[in-house]
Amino acid sequence: MSKKQFKAESKRLLDMMIHSIYTNREIFLRELISNASDALDKRHYLSLTDNRYATDSSNLKITLTIHKDTRQLIIEDTGVGMSQEELEKNLGTIARSGSAEFRKQLEENVDNVDIIGQFGVGFYSAFIVAKHVLVETKSAASDKAYSWSSTGEDGYTINEIEKPEIGTRITIDLKDNSEEENFDEFLEEYKIRELVKKYSDYVRYPIQMEVTKSIPDPTDDQKTIDTKELETLNSMIPLWKKSKSSITQEEYNSFYKAKFNDWEDPQKVIHYSVEGTLSYTALLFIPSKTPYNFYYQDFEPGLQLYSKGVFILDKAKDLVPDYYRFVQGIIDSDDLNLNISREILQQDRQVKLLAKSIEKKIQASLEDMLKNDRDNYEKFFDNFGLNLKYGIYQDYGLHKDQLQDLIMFRSSKEGKYVTLKEYTDRMPTEQKSIYYAVGSSIDEIEQSPIMPKLKKKGYEVLYFLDQRDEFVTGILQNYAEKNFVSISQANLDLDSEEEKKEIEEKTEQNKDLLTAMKDALDGKVKEVRISSRLVDDPVCIVADEGVSLDMERFLANDPMNKDRAVTATKILEINPNHPIFTKLQEVSKTSSDKLKEYTDVLYDQALLIEGLPIKNPVEFAKKIANLIVDAK
Ligand code: ADP
Ligand code: MG
Repeated sequence: MSKKQFKAESKRLLDMMIHSIYTNREIFLRELISNASDALDKRHYLSLTDNRYATDSSNLKITLTIHKDTRQLIIEDTGVGMSQEELEKNLGTIARSGSAEFRKQLEENVDNVDIIGQFGVGFYSAFIVAKHVLVETKSAASDKAYSWSSTGEDGYTINEIEKPEIGTRITIDLKDNSEEENFDEFLEEYKIRELVKKYSDYVRYPIQMEVTKSIPDPTDDQKTIDTKELETLNSMIPLWKKSKSSITQEEYNSFYKAKFNDWEDPQKVIHYSVEGTLSYTALLFIPSKTPYNFYYQDFEPGLQLYSKGVFILDKAKDLVPDYYRFVQGIIDSDDLNLNISREILQQDRQVKLLAKSIEKKIQASLEDMLKNDRDNYEKFFDNFGLNLKYGIYQDYGLHKDQLQDLIMFRSSKEGKYVTLKEYTDRMPTEQKSIYYAVGSSIDEIEQSPIMPKLKKKGYEVLYFLDQRDEFVTGILQNYAEKNFVSISQANLDLDSEEEKKEIEEKTEQNKDLLTAMKDALDGKVKEVRISSRLVDDPVCIVADEGVSLDMERFLANDPMNKDRAVTATKILEINPNHPIFTKLQEVSKTSSDKLKEYTDVLYDQALLIEGLPIKNPVEFAKKIANLIVDAK
């Protein structure tokens, strides 16, 4: 009838788009199905008040047809259809909103496939694969039916046609194959089925296609014959849209396993809907095992994003904060634009609100698990606790208030897990600090010479079994107004006034011995002093303010720091109640050589107990040997 030009701007955009999308070309099907689904929605909605749109609900559907011989793919819906004016208005201008911006983006990133998702270019994506598109449509509001056809190049033609039933049929003539590109896959049943599953599985209307099935030949049981059968390709009702009470644990489990490729059932399912300014449904899972690559670069966190059941993005990582990156799942929101992309996701205000709301829910559900399902929480913590700790020292401690009650440490109370709240709630009133000990195993820590003293006082000690634990408390600084104090810190301040006095006296009495020992160590320690923290052992090393022994050990074991010696300022403490102390007193009166030898051995011994390397192991062994020979 009449051939019309695309608006100049539209034409250029179309051109550029067609020539810049190579790898993501399959999304055209998603776009056309989503338009069909919108049209069905509109028809359903209008039919509530207008009889002209009425139809049996079983008639609301999308049909896909493949014609291999003519290389055509047909997408047909029984939705609202379009009148002549609507055809003009809707399909005559590309990217009606924001076309200038769209062009700019295209010009800037010719190869960027994601840009297609950012703009309302849905319908036109058909031209990525089509050399000709024919739209045949009938609106209930119009007596006549019309076609719109275009090669995408110079313009489009609108004609009046015969089409009795309401709805839209889009016929795509696939482009000819060339050396660079082949379009045959879009004529394969399996490919179309795969794309529908991937992008449109949860569209609310059936997406049907005639598929070829092989059945036994009734006349010859050695043979099969092919028949055509209409099949619904999509599962339509997403699990997350069903009411919680109608879903069994088994359904959740199998859904999770299939969708997220896990062999094991999830440890926790978080399923909820939010209604309000931003409405959405979430179906989230916490895996029951740490994914093997969880702490590596190639682990991809993020949630799947749907809009009204139409798949938008996989692994949308802006929807979950890093410290909850172990959460897997699906978000389906009616309020999101279908044409959202990874780039847009970060800036979109709606998405930010959504992320905030999701984060709150995860937080609440972890808190609930900690409170009401302790065993499970501990299991969860074994898997992902490290990530929560990591969250505390990330971003300079920005999230510490939120996370500090979710972390746990093993402690001297039977090696069990304790939260900081539990620890401070049950500590004796006179206890001034939260005590911790660093070590690579519970055994190692329990053998520390300082532990007996704390046990005696009834003070619980947190076991820092992970090298990062000290960073965590470094960021927290305190909890419930109590400081974190390493049991190997110089000023433990555990003593009563009386005990302090006693130490002072003993120090005074043994001044010469202590000075002689310090000199013997020749600058290796800042001080040799009488210990108030030792119960059973003869000596220990503690660190003065500044670099802790744990830090020294950590850095010594880290190959990155091999050459940079960062050492703690050390203090050697001796136990005045140990027989060795008496021996030292005796020896100091007779032989300064012997005293030096003993002191060296004791110092090295204290280092070894702390897990620190000794300077000269050969020398140490020799001295021990001498001592054995001397012993009578
Ligand atoms: P969007 O879907 O973001 O509006 P599209 O380019 O995908 O942008 O589609 C443009 C418009 O064309 C739609 O808004 C709709 O009005 C109309 N349209 C497209 N496909 C159909 C269809 N199958 N049935 C009815 N209207 C359609
Ligand atoms: Mg669309």
